[in-house]
Amino acid sequence: MGVKEILEDGKLGREEIITLLEATGEDKQLLFKRANEIKLQELGNLVHFRGLVEFSNICGKDCYYCGIRKSNREVHRYNVSDEQILDAARFAHMNAYGSFVMQAGELESPAFTLRVENLLKEIKILSKGELGITLSLGEQTEEVLERWFTAGAHRYLLRIESSNPELYQRYHPSDTLHDYARRLTSLKTLQRIGYQTGTGVMIGLPFQSTGDLADDLLFMKHFDIDMVGMGPYIEHQHTPLFQFRSELLPIQERFDLTLKMIATLRIMMKDINIAAATAMQAIDPLGREKAVKVGANIIMPNITPGKFRNDYALYENKPCVDEEPEECKNCLDVRIQLADGEIGYNEWGDSKHFHKRTAGE
Ligand code: SAM
Ligand code: SF4
Repeated sequence: MGVKEILEDGKLGREEIITLLEATGEDKQLLFKRANEIKLQELGNLVHFRGLVEFSNICGKDCYYCGIRKSNREVHRYNVSDEQILDAARFAHMNAYGSFVMQAGELESPAFTLRVENLLKEIKILSKGELGITLSLGEQTEEVLERWFTAGAHRYLLRIESSNPELYQRYHPSDTLHDYARRLTSLKTLQRIGYQTGTGVMIGLPFQSTGDLADDLLFMKHFDIDMVGMGPYIEHQHTPLFQFRSELLPIQERFDLTLKMIATLRIMMKDINIAAATAMQAIDPLGREKAVKVGANIIMPNITPGKFRNDYALYENKPCVDEEPEECKNCLDVRIQLADGEIGYNEWGDSKHFHKRTAGE
């Protein structure tokens, strides 16, 4: 079947997904148009903000793709103070962002657990319970995830990175800390506890085929995921995967493939939240807005205090590193309007899929 027939039929198996991911020219535009129509039908044109604070680049793991991996000695390590994190939460609340995301390198320790737990409680108090809170702090034990849920976090992002266990192993050291099964278990635990559960993958990694990406989308569907954040892989010179850079798709193609992944997923999972990843903006200044036009409905403006931004360098050419939050906010207002969207100020913008799933529909 061709793209037009697949879109009319609407049933997407592996072969159909591959055809959509390989679409070019007019076919690709048909895919984008259909994804946008579905988003508007299911979710309307509202785009929700999540103010993102990358509060520490200290990480206990050594993922082969990531610029802040433990073994990279070139990184200046930082830890944003509790007061600065709370200031950022106040900023998000006062500017009607609706939700707040706390992201960092992965650490497992009683002190870290307690710190995050206390911060969650304080953010709930300072925002009178009005600010929704998402965490993205890697794999944690069930007990820790339960404690953070009780303290006020209600969404959690844990990208599976690649749903193919063999590929996953090629991107990570072979030890228990970087075990595929452990990551999958964490994701299941999040769902069981009651978090709105988010995952995602990097697109355009070395050794990854279009078939692998189709499998990633099917994984998200079978897992019944509530939220997805996926973005292009961008190489970093101080990481082991950098040696395979000659095998990568050109960066523009990785960007284009990401748009097709978002559009295809929107057709497969009509009512989930899909975030326009920051990595898209690193490639194209209007990258996130382009993602909104093909099915994304969430944007995560970076409100990390400016002086720390350069040090959260997962990849090179990270955008918005010199801007203060206020400047980011003003430019985003205009940009979303350009993408025919409207900002859902003061709303949590929960995953509609989550509410249906948990209501047993
Ligand atoms: N440490 C937590 C974890 O790994 O889940 C959360 C922070 S981690 C920096 C967030 C995401 O950054 C990862 O899930 C990964 O997909 C993405 N990332 C890391 N290195 C990247 C790169 N070189 N290009 C694009 N995305 C990258
Ligand atoms: Fe650490 Fe996350 Fe980077 Fe892996 S992706 S090295 S866990 S910050």
